[in-house]
Amino acid sequence: MYRTHTCGELNIASAGSEVTLCGWVQKSRDLGGMTFIDLRDRYGITQLVFNIDTDKKLCEEARKLGREYVIQASGKVVERSSKNLKIPTGEIEIAVSSLTVLNPSELPPFTIEDETDGGDELRMKYRYLDLRRPVLKQNIYLRHVIAREVRKYMDSLGFIEIETPVLINSTPEGARDFVVPSRLNPGKFYALPQSPQTFKQLLMAAGFDKYFQIVKCFRDEDLRADRQPEFTQIDCEMSFVEQEDILTTFEGMAKHLFREVKGINFTEQFRRLSYEEALNSYGTDKPDLRFDMKFTDITCIVKGKGFPVFDSAEYAGGITVSGCSEYTRRQLDELTEFVKRPQIGAKGLVYVRYGADGSLKSSADKFFSPCDIELWAKETKSSPGDLILILAGAKKKTLAALSELRLEMGRRLGQRNPDNYVPLWVVDFPLLEWDDETQRYYAMHHPFTSPKPEDMPFMDADPGKARANAYDLVINGIEIGGGSIRIHDSSVQKQMFRTLGFSEEEAASQFGFIIDAFRYGAPPHGGIAFGLDRLTAVFAGQDSIRDFIAFPKNNAGKDVMIDSPSVISPKQLDELMISVRK
Ligand code: ASP
Repeated sequence: MYRTHTCGELNIASAGSEVTLCGWVQKSRDLGGMTFIDLRDRYGITQLVFNIDTDKKLCEEARKLGREYVIQASGKVVERSSKNLKIPTGEIEIAVSSLTVLNPSELPPFTIEDETDGGDELRMKYRYLDLRRPVLKQNIYLRHVIAREVRKYMDSLGFIEIETPVLINSTPEGARDFVVPSRLNPGKFYALPQSPQTFKQLLMAAGFDKYFQIVKCFRDEDLRADRQPEFTQIDCEMSFVEQEDILTTFEGMAKHLFREVKGINFTEQFRRLSYEEALNSYGTDKPDLRFDMKFTDITCIVKGKGFPVFDSAEYAGGITVSGCSEYTRRQLDELTEFVKRPQIGAKGLVYVRYGADGSLKSSADKFFSPCDIELWAKETKSSPGDLILILAGAKKKTLAALSELRLEMGRRLGQRNPDNYVPLWVVDFPLLEWDDETQRYYAMHHPFTSPKPEDMPFMDADPGKARANAYDLVINGIEIGGGSIRIHDSSVQKQMFRTLGFSEEEAASQFGFIIDAFRYGAPPHGGIAFGLDRLTAVFAGQDSIRDFIAFPKNNAGKDVMIDSPSVISPKQLDELMISVRK
């Protein structure tokens, strides 16, 4: 037996007992005749003490131990004279009587501590060392707990976990596919699933009724902090359901997770916003509702006064920021610079300072009378002490820019506390999106999403107007999951492909299998998928998903630890009948 206890479990109640621990040397300190070692394992840190007066040889051995040596130490649990009440084992230490080096270590390339000195690239190259850091261990553990609670909840409702294949054909989630050449079928390629979408629908056609799977998905997209080329979904599908059934079931899952993982009880129903409301009030389909700061559309009241910025604008909207009327010139210039950043793209910012004394001062005073400005203040429901910020221009772009400004003001006011969670459903998404460049419609969700029955007539006449039975779960401004009620009628599915510009042959060659399946009695069905990586990051109050994945890729899609992707041998290429262009 290597050990009797872990490094996280001994406390004052164990004083006097003889124990054996194993772990990594976190650090050692020599203080006169005493040597102290912090021994670390997954569970915590326990202090070992060696006394030169008790055992000189052992103490000298201890002094030779370097960082990250793996050791086994036996001895008696004793009460510490100087206690560290910040850690559970901080009241005791082990007076070591025997020590074995199980494996020495070279000096690690960065310090294995929560606050490490290692840069990103270095930590990724030595990810197994990075993962020794307690913060990362906690992240990975949190992920495990969430996955475990998902399985518990789903099982309790009769969902069964079914694996779907990874070597398949293109799935229509709108990203680029990763492809794998087939040796047995030269010149042919598999595509890795962007999601198990078609398979989960086929499982409904097969009568499984309630399916889920915690599953890897693959999308060849440009990477950002919240994107990885391979990521994990909690993928779900149910038969004989309407949108309301799905929302109830999965709001239940979210509440279960909040309760079991975070100890937060949501007793009320999650808020619901239509896509249109979300866009008009917050400028985004994933609003952060930890704070309000709703937009007011003031287009009508600002036009026609000779201010070219407003006169030429398709839309002018404002937000009211409470308590910021004292913003200085410099702070306002900063905000103007902020909205002018290329990624935000506004041309400028108009403000009104509504002084505590009731005075109104605007940056567009030249064009507007005090009465005009008063009307703006009234329309935006502002009061003394507020700052009104206004952007104008093309509608879509301005809403998006105002959304960024709103988030920035929320951040400045400390209203985006990561420990405060505000979930909501966004519903009634448009079915289709028009793309100017290719002059065609794309499915906003995916082509299997059902139009709202009452919007079916639009499908031929004005497809852009049709809304979908589609929904997203958003938490703190982050899209955590999304899904839809599906088309289960092969004629509607055919019509959808037609609207999306697929010829009958194209639709048949790419998705014939699902159109076929719908001919044999597919039940009405719908589902949803949640991003496990994102959900975990949100539960930990962080933006980047990278540190919630044990072995993630860097921004160039590379795993620098295993040096992937890499070239393959000419022999392998030959077998695959592939030649690489220079
Ligand atoms: N397959 C969809 C996605 O990956 C989710 C769903 O519709 O269930 O976004």
